[in-house]
Amino acid sequence: MNCEGDALETIRKVWDQKGSKTAILQMLRVHGPMSRIELTQLTDLSRATISVTINELIELGLVHETVLRQSTGGRPATNLELVPYSHIILGADLNHQTWTLGAFDLLGNTVEKGRVSFSPLTPEAAVQALVDEIPNFVKKIDKSIIPILGIGIPGLVDTHNGLLRSSAVMGWMHVDIGAMVEKALGWPTVVLNRSRARGLSECRYGAGKVYRHMIYIGIDSGIGAGIYVNRELIHGALGGAGEIGHTTVVADGPLCPCGNSGCLQMLSAAPAMELEARRLLRLGASSSLHQQPDFDLQMLQAEDICRAAEDGDELAGQVVNNAATYFGITMANLVNLLNPEAIILGGTIPKDSPAYVQTAVKVMKQRAMSQLSAATVVHIGEFKEIGGALGAANMALDRHMSFSYFSS
Ligand SMILES: [Zn+2]
Repeated sequence: MNCEGDALETIRKVWDQKGSKTAILQMLRVHGPMSRIELTQLTDLSRATISVTINELIELGLVHETVLRQSTGGRPATNLELVPYSHIILGADLNHQTWTLGAFDLLGNTVEKGRVSFSPLTPEAAVQALVDEIPNFVKKIDKSIIPILGIGIPGLVDTHNGLLRSSAVMGWMHVDIGAMVEKALGWPTVVLNRSRARGLSECRYGAGKVYRHMIYIGIDSGIGAGIYVNRELIHGALGGAGEIGHTTVVADGPLCPCGNSGCLQMLSAAPAMELEARRLLRLGASSSLHQQPDFDLQMLQAEDICRAAEDGDELAGQVVNNAATYFGITMANLVNLLNPEAIILGGTIPKDSPAYVQTAVKVMKQRAMSQLSAATVVHIGEFKEIGGALGAANMALDRHMSFSYFSS
């Protein structure tokens, strides 16, 4: 079974109004293939209703039966699952000044990817670029599209109202982005913090799909998390649950754009590593980083530092080690606080630097309660930006999917 996000309660409310076909489609979408008996238990629908409704959905080509041979040699079991590629959903993920667009079937398979950039860095330009691109993007897909959109964006997002409260990365405050997109596109639109969206796709389809309690942490130019307890995304009162990049790890550390000093992301994210490496190089430390063709101190990227550390460069190794140590302390705190089964690391840094991950896990195990850290596995995420689009599309379907989209 797959993870529910905060889906279950929302879905229950929706199917009371929208009927048994919506209920069954949602259950198969969120939980994956299951038997008629499991479906009866999960939906509280009667066996007779399940039977009639399933037959209708099979006739419509939305659901099919798969037969599983029992290893014990007993009667083969019949599972029900959604037919792949029958209908398509769209999602988008915002990173810097570029949207990553994704089209997916209801099983999470990617059908089409696209990108569109915008300028200037304003909400109006961002929304316009997205809304202008969607008709072109849809033209490439020869399938039925469900007219609902999910978008993942950086910052503090009130998902219930589609409101971006603030985003330091974008420099935006109080943007009614959900309503702006809905008005321009004419589709119901759900807005979600990008890290929570990326985590939701890992939780349902990626590295976290077998766990009930997991935390996704993305490490790029900032650090953001999505917390999934008992397979439910924890939003918090204002949608801010998971803002671990702004937890304090050094009392008098570097000043953060959030106004606090010593925030985790000022010590462990990509820009922090770049600043520290530049500082050490300026002081005259020797390093292979100097020897790169066309070396320019100002242009030194975290990717270069990670690569040099993997190649044994001492300075780069020290920078990675320092950043990863603070990150490992935060992981230990999360393990003690929430006791997850898994921590899934996304973003560019964990992919570029096995040393960063290794050090962070070592520190986590040193500092968390030993029984808890021993029971916590750490994996690298399977998706990049496309995961944000997939997670946001899923959240949009959790909130708005109805059988009426399949019957018209
Ligand atoms: Zn901060």
